[in-house]
Amino acid sequence: MDRAIVGISASPGIVLGPVHLLRWEVPDVPHRIIPDEEVDREIARLNDALERAKERLRAVRDRAERHAGPEEAAIFEVQVSILDDAELGKRTESYIRQNLGAEKAFDLVLLEWRQTFARSAVPMMRERVGDLMDVHIRVLSVLLGLPDHDPVDVPKGANAILVTHDLTPSLTVQLDRDAIAGIATDLGTRTSHVAILARSLGLPAVVGLRDAVGRLRGDEYVVLDGSSGILVVNPSAAEIDTFRNRAIAEAQTEAELLEAADQDAITTDGVRITIRANVDMPDEAEQAARSGADGVGLMRTEFLVVGRASMPDEDEQYRAYTRVVRAFGGRPVVIRTFDVGGDKLPVGGFPAEPNPFLGWRAIRMCLDEPEIFKVQLRALLRAAMHGDVRIMLPLVVSLDEVLAARKLLGESADELERRGVACKRDVPLGIMIETPAAVIAADTFVDDVAFFSIGTNDLVQYTLAVDRGNANLAGRFTPLHPSVLRLVKRTVEVGALHELDVSVCGEMASQPLMAFALIGLGLRSLSVNPRAVPLVKRLVRGLSISFAAEAVAAALQARTAPEAERQLKYRLLAAFGDAAFLRDSVT
Ligand code: PEP
Ligand code: MG
Repeated sequence: MDRAIVGISASPGIVLGPVHLLRWEVPDVPHRIIPDEEVDREIARLNDALERAKERLRAVRDRAERHAGPEEAAIFEVQVSILDDAELGKRTESYIRQNLGAEKAFDLVLLEWRQTFARSAVPMMRERVGDLMDVHIRVLSVLLGLPDHDPVDVPKGANAILVTHDLTPSLTVQLDRDAIAGIATDLGTRTSHVAILARSLGLPAVVGLRDAVGRLRGDEYVVLDGSSGILVVNPSAAEIDTFRNRAIAEAQTEAELLEAADQDAITTDGVRITIRANVDMPDEAEQAARSGADGVGLMRTEFLVVGRASMPDEDEQYRAYTRVVRAFGGRPVVIRTFDVGGDKLPVGGFPAEPNPFLGWRAIRMCLDEPEIFKVQLRALLRAAMHGDVRIMLPLVVSLDEVLAARKLLGESADELERRGVACKRDVPLGIMIETPAAVIAADTFVDDVAFFSIGTNDLVQYTLAVDRGNANLAGRFTPLHPSVLRLVKRTVEVGALHELDVSVCGEMASQPLMAFALIGLGLRSLSVNPRAVPLVKRLVRGLSISFAAEAVAAALQARTAPEAERQLKYRLLAAFGDAAFLRDSVT
């Protein structure tokens, strides 16, 4: 199949549909010098382009408001106001009067503005950098007569396969799920946030395709196979049949697993494993609750703020958290405080950093911006009145961070009490274990936290020094590396010694082979993407703890990740044969 473009499986499912190419990047701009007599005409062309861009933005805003809501649509209002800024027009005109073509003049002004805004000491200004970029692309596309690649411009029912170089979370949350059937990106890996989001939206996705955007024209149709990570361009009738049969078989397996989703995950030797769900968007909560999960092991709250013009206020956050808590009717819901930065920048306002994964992200940002953090903490303490809420701090490396967060939590409760608002004061506070530092110093936290949750996506990244989102390094991102297995083991041991709950909420837990290893390492609680809940439960019901422990003991002896994988794989195959539900894990 030479029309197959091979990437990385990011979210399961097989779909056939027309390609929707999205090139959301600043185009190359020719350096055009115009004669004096063309200056007025060029200014008129600029004004016309600004008007057309505004018209377009208003249409996009209306559409976003209809399918996503007024908060999500507000960002387009902000962009219209940027285009309305008299200074923007004046400055671009002054460059045109120096004989630059309108597109070069606009390009220069926007580059200047983006730099100035990004360096501003005023957060409000920094928050606008992403909007400036969108406006930059939109107006240049009009001036250069480029095809309109608007991310939200796919009609309902189109069943389109969105193909793009990189899909930022802010673009992802704008997508109309009634229009897009699958996502394909050149960049990214299984653990980059576009993949995580696609899984939580239940959208089949393939990432790390490298050059799909360059190879496609936009008028093709494709089969996207999210389970095996390939895109087949203009498939033949026979190929479509093959994929259709695979899709039917996958759907059948999934339906069978779902039928047993409510059964407890108890091993053959009688040990109960708690399987919770990772929930990224509040409107996925009800469906996630139907997956048979014993609660939520990780709610990624940062997806509430990405792609937005402003931070959600306390009431909006309270409603979002309460929705998830209610959907799970009293079962534990672990809500993680904002983990912004890295590859998931929210509303802007966060200057670009040369090294974002080692930068100002997660708990670091929250502690430095207590006014943002306390809004979230108050919303969480209020939502805790409706169920079993537990608060989790991301990327903690030091106890000081926990103590500082706890202090802010107390202040937030005091503020609510002063306001006479009902809230729960004694909400359990736990931490994510995502860095070697947190593992090695795990014992320093035990007196001050209620639980540990191992974030293997970041733990693998920071341990192996492998960027989790870099498709070129996907083969080197090996959760079964001896160092990672030992770090997980050590965390479990520290937890056991101090009677602290330890779970894993990274992607590793959602993959049966790795879940098998985790159970063998002593974990009794996993949090997985909602679709994987019935799958991991089924796995647990077919295993004994002693078998998993023996397999992992062999894996721990291995000196490389592939060797560890072999040790686990053949045992899993021996136990389950060629069971359909394990097809993607053991082949
Ligand atoms: C992790 O790092 O494993 C994790 C669960 O958090 P996130 O993927 O959101 O960084
Ligand atoms: Mg993480």
